Amino acid sequence: MNTNLKTSVIGSYPVSVNTMDLMNSYFDQHNITWNKYIDEAVHDMITAGITCVSDGQTRDPFIQIFTRKLQGCRIRDRTEIIGKITYANPITIDDQKYVKTLLPKGKELVGVLTGPYTLMKSCVDQFYHNEQELAFDFASALKAEAQQLEHIVDFISIDEPFFSINYPEYAYELIKTITKDISCPSRLHVCGDVSMIVPELLDMPVDILTHEFKASPHLFNAFKEHDCKKKICLGSVRSDDTRVETVEEIVTHIKQGIQIFGEKLIQVSPDCGQRLLPKNIAFQKLQNLVMARRKIDE
Ligand SMILES: [Zn+2]
Repeated sequence: MNTNLKTSVIGSYPVSVNTMDLMNSYFDQHNITWNKYIDEAVHDMITAGITCVSDGQTRDPFIQIFTRKLQGCRIRDRTEIIGKITYANPITIDDQKYVKTLLPKGKELVGVLTGPYTLMKSCVDQFYHNEQELAFDFASALKAEAQQLEHIVDFISIDEPFFSINYPEYAYELIKTITKDISCPSRLHVCGDVSMIVPELLDMPVDILTHEFKASPHLFNAFKEHDCKKKICLGSVRSDDTRVETVEEIVTHIKQGIQIFGEKLIQVSPDCGQRLLPKNIAFQKLQNLVMARRKIDE
């Protein structure tokens, strides 16, 4: 049953970064010091037994990772938009290439992009005064990143938490700007309560959908009412709660997912990025997720 079901992460992983290293990295993003944090995150994911790992997004919070390298952005408390958004240099490419060298055979790499709508909503706009135009320029810049990522990673995941707060009418076209003609599979992550936009999500121009099924178990019913045309990555341990779910509890949750999605269920993961959890808790959650996945075949 479901032998192709893989364990995955959403993106971020907690590592405690030394303040001096953090400051130095702002002057020289290519400094070798940073690799030790990526090593730490990737090592934990591999040790826990996760199949589809990420770079841990250790370098910056998920907005600044992108806005720090895009032209038109200025980093203050929040990112300010002070000019036209353009893609000047690769953003996550060097880190992804580095992670690739760390992966044993059989592991997969997910390239994570913070979605254009979420980037737009998280910045203070002093230039466009037009949300849609700004969002589409972010999308074009992310497309340029995706065109390089597709040659390195096994699939690309786009994080759009803001879709659960406000779903724009141009959401489909926005995501399509990134995923069109990309050769590797794509995944869309929307955390929060997405029960009101399930039909729209099921039509999205991506291969895989991933949501917080553990924190919002009523999503099972919301999806059950629709014909699921997408592959699913099932959020199976919470990312906003330090209680470590037991293996048995996760097994029950995954089995519920299999009942509803059948073969469409191809990945199980934490509900969201794990950045805000204590490191030992994040690790234990991944370990239990892997053990639960193994029990599904027994
Ligand atoms: Zn999330």
